[in-house]
Amino acid sequence: MENRLSEKPEPTEVELELTNHCNASCLACPRDQLTAEKGFMDEDTFHTIIEKYENYREGLAINKIAEGTRYPFISFAGMGEPLLHSKIFDFVRHVRSRNFKAVLFTNASLLNEEKAGRLVEAGINHLNISFWGINEREYRLSMGLDFSTSLKNVEYMSKLASKNNISIIISWIKNKYITSTTQEIVDFWNARGLEVDIEEDNQPWNRGGYLSNDSFNEDFDSYPPVNYDFDVWCSQMFFTDTVCWNGDVVICSCDYYKKENVIGNLKDIHPDEITNKKHEILSCKAKIPVCLKCKKPDRNYPLGSSPWDELLSEDEKQRYYYFKNQKR
Ligand code: SF4
Ligand code: SF4
Repeated sequence: MENRLSEKPEPTEVELELTNHCNASCLACPRDQLTAEKGFMDEDTFHTIIEKYENYREGLAINKIAEGTRYPFISFAGMGEPLLHSKIFDFVRHVRSRNFKAVLFTNASLLNEEKAGRLVEAGINHLNISFWGINEREYRLSMGLDFSTSLKNVEYMSKLASKNNISIIISWIKNKYITSTTQEIVDFWNARGLEVDIEEDNQPWNRGGYLSNDSFNEDFDSYPPVNYDFDVWCSQMFFTDTVCWNGDVVICSCDYYKKENVIGNLKDIHPDEITNKKHEILSCKAKIPVCLKCKKPDRNYPLGSSPWDELLSEDEKQRYYYFKNQKR
């Protein structure tokens, strides 16, 4: 069987951190460990990055195989709340004008009616909304935000989204303050016309070892470590290019906090160089400290690996760690 997936990492997602400032204090986000300098992505940096990926994507294997969408998609995420950035709507509009799919990760607390309208008008394709808990107490203790404001925002956004062909998924992480069952949470959001992410059973990820067990009923030590026997021992690294607000590229989102593994700055390097460096790290099975401490309940990373899940043959899948229940 011909191997269609490139030996070298090709991003299906470029995660842009517009800022690492945040108005929330989510339990599963070890922001107290953040020592990286704080700031906001400037317009020159943003435009340079988009232009570089616009050229780079033409050679990607995925774009020769998958018809329709042009990869990578651009996600506005990172270790902060993207809606705090004053240029977010211009940035979304620019990404769409260059024929990239645009995805926003947000806690929705700032997504009032005016901002929701501007987001739709800018052409956003998909929202991933972090909303942990379905009542005032669960939500306040899990995220440190005001429940009724955020819920009103999400309900309004949901109506706009359904009229404008925009998809939304609600994501949440189990912790000791959320006593509602998964089914109650699913029912709560389904009643509002929204889908809920229940991948990985909503268990926390220790984020390269930076998150402690304190707020969870889980034992991170029982989660699987990376398995260096696989060619792709971390699909997060393989499928997602992770870019900090100043243009620095780190190996993955776990490295946002301390930036110990900076591959280069996209103002100076081309995405090819990120591909080559990641290929080297994966091939030589690099024992990077943050990777050695990284524990996930299930090492399947669906976001970023799609649409490969559907495109790869069974033989090809055997090389990759991100497929669920894979034994080797
Ligand atoms: S998970 Fe996102 S919204 Fe929550 S504190 Fe971290 S950066 Fe902020
Ligand atoms: S810390 Fe290493 S193993 Fe964990 S997600 Fe990041 S790159 Fe992958």
